[in-house]
Amino acid sequence: MPSSLYRGRFAPSPTGPLHYGSLYAAFGSWLLARQAGGEWHVRVEDIDPPREVPGAAQAQLRSLHAYGLHPDGEVVFQSLRYARYAEALAALLERGAAFPCTCSRAELAAGGGVHHRCLHAPDDRPPAYRLRVAAPCTVGFDDGLQGHIAQEVYAEVGDFVLKRADGYWAYQLAVVVDDADQGITDVVRGADLLDSTPRQILLQRALGLPTPRYLHLPLITDAQGRKLSKSEAARPLDDADPQPALRAAWADLGQDPRRLPAAGTRDALLAAAVGGFAPARLPRHRPAGGD
Ligand code: GLU
Repeated sequence: MPSSLYRGRFAPSPTGPLHYGSLYAAFGSWLLARQAGGEWHVRVEDIDPPREVPGAAQAQLRSLHAYGLHPDGEVVFQSLRYARYAEALAALLERGAAFPCTCSRAELAAGGGVHHRCLHAPDDRPPAYRLRVAAPCTVGFDDGLQGHIAQEVYAEVGDFVLKRADGYWAYQLAVVVDDADQGITDVVRGADLLDSTPRQILLQRALGLPTPRYLHLPLITDAQGRKLSKSEAARPLDDADPQPALRAAWADLGQDPRRLPAAGTRDALLAAAVGGFAPARLPRHRPAGGD
């Protein structure tokens, strides 16, 4: 039995040090979980070694610690959970809900990058595995901040990859299996993942798993509402001095700076933040951003 009705999580990919954009998402999910009296878990999404930077996972965990965002329970590493992903894929294959596919990039490009059926018989190249998406397939959900979101997954995405031809597991499958295994009730993350959510819901349904609530935070933008350039969003965090970035993230989460003590310890700031957090103030979009 889960020990609380609210279980949130933060799930960074170890592709570099924790940057300001990730801290903002981590702080948002932590605040919502803590204010709900719930749990907050951390999962390292280390399933894509070619994109990972050695030591980044430990550096990210050290930063979260330095910022006072302490997870409940053990940190979960996706690289240790391949057997669970294999079980899920096997269950889908057995029911014909997933299939092996050796379509090349060029063949996919011919279909606008959307896979609907294989253009040739299976051959001896190592296959990717895809979820079969039948037409029509509109998946909708009510986002905690963005309102009702719907996507025609057949037309917009097509049969999507669960395991890559290079043998690595796809994010969509791993995230769905892990959110369910960890009993996550509330997924709070950046709006860059909004268009992945219908795929994840489809996969939850195919695997008979519950669908958590979703809340997608608007991406950080500059004063003109432009999405921050990679270099700005990726500005490194100072683990030795967490308060400036926590205060900046608090403001970016639409919160009233007067609710935070002007001086004092990091933990006093975090305690005031939990007490003063007003979810209704979360911005749906960035002020000058294109609605
Ligand atoms: N690991 C993903 C990322 O860093 C986030 C996954 C999620 O929150 O669902 O972009």
